[in-house]
Parts: sequence; structure tokens; C-alpha cells
Amino acid sequence: MFSSQDSALRPDRVIHIHSAAPPKPAYGQACNGCGVCCLAVPCPLGMLLSRRRQGACAALVWEGAAGLYRCGAISQPRQAVQQALPRRLQWLARPLSCLLARLARRWIAAGQGCDSRLDVQRPADIADNATTHSQDLHDR
Ligand code: SF4
Ligand code: SF4
Repeated sequence: MFSSQDSALRPDRVIHIHSAAPPKPAYGQACNGCGVCCLAVPCPLGMLLSRRRQGACAALVWEGAAGLYRCGAISQPRQAVQQALPRRLQWLARPLSCLLARLARRWIAAGQGCDSRLDVQRPADIADNATTHSQDLHDR
């Protein structure tokens, strides 16, 4: 569970994240698949695939063997499209997933640096801050 702060999001939001996920790198550093950005709010493509504008992206996939999150629009386009389509439109999954597989990497700028300015605090960081603060109060 992480607390995140960003001007475009509700301050002090809590998001749930796999305990084995790597820590979020600084803005501009290489993306390490921490998943924070996609768990906080879907990108425009994620809004389509998730059919919502807030919360975690439904296309985000946790890969346990690698210990990181991947964008399902790239790594599992068929599943990403299937879960987004209503049952009566499932026949579109195959052609749309072929299209998605071709375009997703370009749309989401995969392979580039971290483009998230979210400020993340793990529960342990928050507990440390609280301990420090109570110590400060105690010392007065
Ligand atoms: S872009 Fe940044 S926040 Fe998003 S998964 Fe990559 S490293 Fe994490
Ligand atoms: S990059 Fe992929 S997983 Fe992340 S929000 Fe966009 S569509 Fe979803």
C-alpha cells in the first residue's frame, strides 16, 4: 500500500500495490515496471480498456516471475481487449487485439523514461515520519 501525492490527483491517495514491486524511480529515470502510474490513474488508452477514468488500469498485469508490472495492452493485447469488450462484442477481440498490439507501444511511449511525477511513500516511510514527528514533539 502506497500513499501518493500529485497535483492532478487527490492528495494523500492510497493505492494498493504488490509488495514485491520495485520502488518507483525518479521522474525521467528508466522505467522499472513499478506500476505506480497505472495503479493511480489509467492513461487515455487505459481509460478505454478499463472503461473508467479513475483508479487502477484494468489492463495492468503483475508478472510474478519478473517481479514487475507490465502494460497488458502490449504484453497481453488479446486479454486486454477481451476484458474490455461486452460479451456481445467479443467477436471483435481478435482484430482489435492485432491493432492494439501494433499501436499500443507507440501510444503509451513504452521503453522511455518514467513520466510520472507522483511522490510515493511506502507505509514504512510514513511510520518513520510519524515516529520522527512524535519524537520531535516529545523533545519540546
Ligand atoms: S512509468 Fe514510472 S511510475 Fe510508471 S511503471 Fe514506469 S517507473 Fe513506474
Ligand atoms: S500504460 Fe498500459 S497498463 Fe498503464 S494505464 Fe496505460 S494501458 Fe493501462
